[in-house]
Amino acid sequence: MRKIIIAIDGYSACGKSTTAREVASILGYRYVDSGAMYRAVTLYFLDHHISLTNPKEIERGLTQIHLAFHINSHGQTELFMNGVNVEKSIRKMRISENVSPVSTIKQVRQAMVEQQRKLGKDKGMVMDGRDIGTVVFPAAELKLFLTADIQVRAFRRQQELLEKDKLVDLNTIIANLTERDQIDSNRKESPLAKATDALEVNTTHITIDEQVDEVVRMALGKIVRSRK
Ligand code: C5P
Repeated sequence: MRKIIIAIDGYSACGKSTTAREVASILGYRYVDSGAMYRAVTLYFLDHHISLTNPKEIERGLTQIHLAFHINSHGQTELFMNGVNVEKSIRKMRISENVSPVSTIKQVRQAMVEQQRKLGKDKGMVMDGRDIGTVVFPAAELKLFLTADIQVRAFRRQQELLEKDKLVDLNTIIANLTERDQIDSNRKESPLAKATDALEVNTTHITIDEQVDEVVRMALGKIVRSRK
């Protein structure tokens, strides 16, 4: 069966990653969380005190970062940086608070986009992020743009953090999501935007299961059509 690329973009905490992961698992596709890659770069830059205004340090830093996705024993994709599993450390608030400024940097974006395109060269992939349908895979067969009310997004993110035994108050999360959306949408390099051919899905009042069913239905429609 011919394989397609499914690009899922949208604001922070709209359920992109959960939807993308589930859809990939149902279709037998690979899942790539592009946000995790920007988070890993942020972790490296913070740990190595790389100045965000020094292009030479940034370039040198980027050459030292090797990223690879591996599937764990539960079938979930985890990101490794230079051989170390960074899944836990990249989800911390310290990274969430610094990732958007790092993601505005042109060299960082060029390096990540190049790797993302390589990962998708054989198709059969669901990738979520901010610029997947607009920049990384402008010819993706299925493009979705997820939105949801800020209160719902913050509550969902709070639940996710609680599952990791981390209690963060709702106002702190709302402030972080709002700030990231603002930086992501207004940056010069590939800002967060809905591709003209993307379908907008408002997830405020639908469950993850409903979201997943809907995306799988759309994907199967595209796969069948692309075989003709
Ligand atoms: O998806 P997640 O919220 O983990 O992404 C973290 C940050 O990484 C975003 O707020 C954004 O600044 C950046 N990002 C990006 N382009 C992508 C994916 C994420 O700029 N394709």
